[in-house]
Amino acid sequence: MKVFLHVCCAADLILAHKKLKEKNIEYVAYFYNPNIYPKIEYEKRYNAFLKLKKMWNFEEIKEKYNHNEFTEIMKNINIKDEHIRCYKCMYFRMERSVIEAKKRGYNVFTTTLLSSPRKKHEDIKKIAEELSNKYNITFYYDNFRANNAISEGAKFCKVNNIYRQNYCGCEYSLIEAEELRIRSFEKRKKFLSKILDFDFTHLMNKELLKIPEDLYPRYLYKYGLEIIKNLKPKIIIIKKEIADDLNIKNGRNKIGNWKSKFIVV
Ligand code: SF4
Repeated sequence: MKVFLHVCCAADLILAHKKLKEKNIEYVAYFYNPNIYPKIEYEKRYNAFLKLKKMWNFEEIKEKYNHNEFTEIMKNINIKDEHIRCYKCMYFRMERSVIEAKKRGYNVFTTTLLSSPRKKHEDIKKIAEELSNKYNITFYYDNFRANNAISEGAKFCKVNNIYRQNYCGCEYSLIEAEELRIRSFEKRKKFLSKILDFDFTHLMNKELLKIPEDLYPRYLYKYGLEIIKNLKPKIIIIKKEIADDLNIKNGRNKIGNWKSKFIVV
């Protein structure tokens, strides 16, 4: 069987590719996403897709980027209502994919939106059912994100240097992601200001945090590793004796639901 696969991004294609290959299903890939904003972001995501194409040698149906198509369909809807907005956006991309699939003689279609942790499968299935009836085409459903696939996909991206976006795609989601980032930063700052009695803002989101050079260990002994979690550095270099006291191992350590890389010296 060969399915017509709508691809929303490289990160989600990784999951779909794995599941389809496991079932010996071939696919032709159609990267159709006029929702992505701005154009430079589209190029980043499309280039990541091309990198996978080079690795896996799949067939591609090329499509042009035209953000006006997205702007048009968003007219006259309440864009602040995320459910309405995203449903419409998914419907539009899936419908265009189905039209393209039918034009090229495919009878089965699916979408990498099924890999995304941000999308509801009930919505995708509802859209697919409507499109299947309207265009007389079969929808192939699989839970691409099942069995820890998201975290395996993230590892694959890291190892192979594949770009992973940090917002869904459109201008509204870009603003929402930025607002969320600011809210989370302020929350962490508030927490730390109750504990740290010095100006710590330059330590927040640092690439490299050195312990004890940047942060006296007495704070960690007294208040625990939540301090590091809230400072959120990319990498932490920590002296062995302090690491041993705090039960920190060389490599990735989990602090609550957050993981960070420690280099014990
Ligand atoms: S948030 Fe994502 S799914 Fe929703 S409208 Fe924007 S790009 Fe489309």
